Amino acid sequence: MTTQANTKLTLALSKGRIFEETLPLLEAAGIVVTENPETSRKLILPTNDPQVNVIIVRASDVPTYVQYGAADFGVAGKDVLHEHGGEGLYQPIDLNIAKCRMSVAVSAGFDYENAVRQGARLRVATKYLLTAREHFAAKGVHVDLIKLYGSMELAPLVGLADAIVDLVSTGSTLRANNLVEVEHIMEISSRLVVNQAALKLKRERLQPILEAIQKASNQ
Ligand code: ATP
Ligand code: MG
Repeated sequence: MTTQANTKLTLALSKGRIFEETLPLLEAAGIVVTENPETSRKLILPTNDPQVNVIIVRASDVPTYVQYGAADFGVAGKDVLHEHGGEGLYQPIDLNIAKCRMSVAVSAGFDYENAVRQGARLRVATKYLLTAREHFAAKGVHVDLIKLYGSMELAPLVGLADAIVDLVSTGSTLRANNLVEVEHIMEISSRLVVNQAALKLKRERLQPILEAIQKASNQ
C-alpha cells in the first residue's frame, strides 16, 4: 500500500490579518511559508515542505475553494463561514485569531431603539446579507437590505441606509465616522475548515497538522 507521506496538501489563506495570524500556528505544525504574499505576486506560495502549498484567495472565497476541494483546508472568519453556509466543510478548530464582533451600527443621532419600537421599516447596508436577514427576522424587525462590498460606514452618513451590519474590533472606525454600535450580533474569530473528502482520503497526512494547529491555537 502507498503511504500518505507523499500526499500533496493545499491550504487556502487570505492576505492580511488572517495570513499573519495563521503563520505562527502553521509553524507550530512545522510548516513555514517561504514567500510573503504582500510582496510576491504569486498566488501559489511554496512552503518549507515541498508537499504543502498555500494559495492566496479573497477572504470570502476561502470556503468555496475548500468546499470544492481546490484547497484541502483553509482559514476563514466565522462571518464568512456563516454567509457561505458551510456546505462540504468540516470545521474542527476555532483558531482564536482575527477576533472581532458582528454588530449593528447607526449614526449617532439616529434613535434605533425607538425606530424598532415603532415598527419602522429600516434600510440596512451590509456585506453580510444572510447574517443581517437572520438577525432582523429573529427580532421581528422589517428591513430592506442593501448589499455593499466595502466601506459600509459611509452608508448612514450619506443617507443610503439607516443602519449597517459590519465587523467591529476597536470601534475606532465607527467613532471616526460618528457612528454608534447599537447591537452585537455575534462574536467572530477565524476557523480552520477542512474539505470533507480530504479529511477522509488524506487523514494520515492532515491529522498531525490539525492537531499541532489545535494545540498552538489553545495556547
Ligand atoms: P477583501 O479585503 O478581500 O474585500 P475583507 O475586507 O473582508 O476582504 P479583511 O478585512 O482582511 O477582508 O477581513 C478578513 C477577515 O478578517 C474577515 O472575514 C473577518 O473574519 C476578519 N476581520 C475583519 N475585520 C476585522 C477586524 N477589524 N478585527 C479582527 N478581525 C477582522
Ligand atoms: Mg479588506
